[in-house]
Amino acid sequence: MEFANRLERLSPYVPGEQPKIEGLIKLNTNENPFPPAPGVKEAVLQAAENLQKYSDPEAAVLCQALAETFGLKKEEVICGNGSDEILAFAFLAFCDKDHPAVFPRVTYGFYEVLANLFQVPTRRFELQADLSIDPAECCQKGETVFLANPNAPTGILMPLSSVERILKADPDRVVVLDEAYADFAPENGRSLIERYENLLIVRTFSKSRSLAGGRLGFALGNQKLIEGMRRIKDSFHPYNVNAMTQAAGISVLKAEAYTKKTADQVIKTRERTKKVLKDQGFELTDSAANFLFLKKAGFEGKTLAEELRKKKILVRHFNTPGIEDYLRVSVGSEEEMDFFLKAITELTATEKWESEREKE
Ligand code: PMP
Repeated sequence: MEFANRLERLSPYVPGEQPKIEGLIKLNTNENPFPPAPGVKEAVLQAAENLQKYSDPEAAVLCQALAETFGLKKEEVICGNGSDEILAFAFLAFCDKDHPAVFPRVTYGFYEVLANLFQVPTRRFELQADLSIDPAECCQKGETVFLANPNAPTGILMPLSSVERILKADPDRVVVLDEAYADFAPENGRSLIERYENLLIVRTFSKSRSLAGGRLGFALGNQKLIEGMRRIKDSFHPYNVNAMTQAAGISVLKAEAYTKKTADQVIKTRERTKKVLKDQGFELTDSAANFLFLKKAGFEGKTLAEELRKKKILVRHFNTPGIEDYLRVSVGSEEEMDFFLKAITELTATEKWESEREKE
């Protein structure tokens, strides 16, 4: 059948493993080690009592709460079933054959998957030698920019001054600033919204707000951009955020102090872990996210990930040219990171493992 060929050519996103192995330390999908804010469980249970009713397609209360949290109007906010869905809406809304998508070759893998799915032309460019993004690569007129900031999986933050340069390069095209990890970073693009009509900020509840399983993302931006996104949403999936998740999101936003406290703890643990690894000769990027991106000379990333798995620690390795030697390690609890540090020290401290590998 003809359409079967097209479907065979699709290469879907490969999410990090979610195995149910007892005692496993899961540092492979950048989840938050802390549980959802107090009150979330009760809010979800209460919403569950009315599941015979459809959820609010506008997610009005949630959008209002987000608007208040970020000092915006409700019309400047839209919610999605995870930020992955928001990204999908953005590809549908802002890319076509005259507006190709541009993003680095090493970035969040879902951009390429979505571009392929929606048959959007793309231009992909290389990272610089230090793994940072050259803003000049994102300044070509007419291209819709997808910029993860901090970038994934490197964790490197592009300074706001460079983001502004990209926004200014062509006010007629949209810049999608994917700030999934913004709450772990020293600065973010929120203050740019009033000044740049072409800025769409994408955020998620999956990381700093401990709600990965709830699937909740949102976008902030100029009313016209958000209205465009809403038209896409209502042409695709009007009830996209279920009632329990809307309730969970509203409840989380009432507990911003908890979000801040837990994010601060993750940052502290990140910096402590980074220092121990640096002292042991690891090379690490200056990650502003809730994960570390690291390698050690003489050790293959793939083998190291496999060896860690044998010790019941799951980390993420990418077979992507240029970063094959790196591991992406989510920042877990203090105890989880101690366990990880002990394991990786044992694996890399001795010459034994390396010489054994050479014999193979
Ligand atoms: N953007 C980036 C850069 C990510 O790393 C992720 C998480 N995999 C997402 C978006 C999607 O997150 P979610 O769909 O859970 O909101």
